[in-house]
Amino acid sequence: MVIPVTINFKNDKERVGVAIMGGTFDPVHNGHLRTAVEILDRYGFRELKLIPCFQPVHKSAPSVTAKQRLDMVNMAVSGDSRLVVDDSEIKRAGPSYTIDTLHAIRDDVGVDEPLIMVLGMDSFLSLPTWHNWQDLIQYAHIFVVSRPGWEPDLISELNTFCENYRAASPLELQCAPSGLVWLETLTPLGISSSMIRSLCRKQSSIAYLLPEPVQAYIEKNQLYR
Ligand code: ATP
Ligand code: MG
Repeated sequence: MVIPVTINFKNDKERVGVAIMGGTFDPVHNGHLRTAVEILDRYGFRELKLIPCFQPVHKSAPSVTAKQRLDMVNMAVSGDSRLVVDDSEIKRAGPSYTIDTLHAIRDDVGVDEPLIMVLGMDSFLSLPTWHNWQDLIQYAHIFVVSRPGWEPDLISELNTFCENYRAASPLELQCAPSGLVWLETLTPLGISSSMIRSLCRKQSSIAYLLPEPVQAYIEKNQLYR
């Protein structure tokens, strides 16, 4: 059995870096949340911002309102003060371009703070289709997490990108504000929002795939039917 390296951070002052996880969160689920807490526990970043998009650029419109998706993310994080919900993409409205969001967060945290953009392998593989994708690394590190069903079969463009920016160790991400790529394997959880929406449509149980208050909210409001 491989036991992951965990760094012991004695107090909050020793925590460096802000991790960010964008997504549609339609709805938020334990795959998102477990990924977030494992990264925080392993690397002791100061916080992890969950950023629900307003209008996804690469997929069809979400099934429920932005307010409902935001409500669910807020409910999901109530137990852990390191998980912070950022509603800036929803407030900004329009298509949610990550480059705009990173620009705003960089302005907010200052030039020296390490910013760590967390992407599942599926999102990372689609990176070359993102608006100004080559510029993202100037604003943040890119921290790629494995996802069941997605293999790192990198197209040449992405392969070159990884070769150019790959960190020698994840600890390097805390020593620079941006500019590095790191690929990490966490506890694999084969949960997706599409799977949850599909279960709801069939009126099957969604228990244990997402936090109970989120499940209750979906059921009460009859979402995804
Ligand atoms: P959908 O099925 O609608 O595409 P999703 O489950 O992929 O939804 P998103 O909101 O699109 O959820 O994902 C936000 C981010 O979280 C993306 O970077 C995605 O790769 C990552 N992610 C989602 N689910 C998991 C999971 N089970 N394990 C690791 N990363 C995940
Ligand atoms: Mg997805």
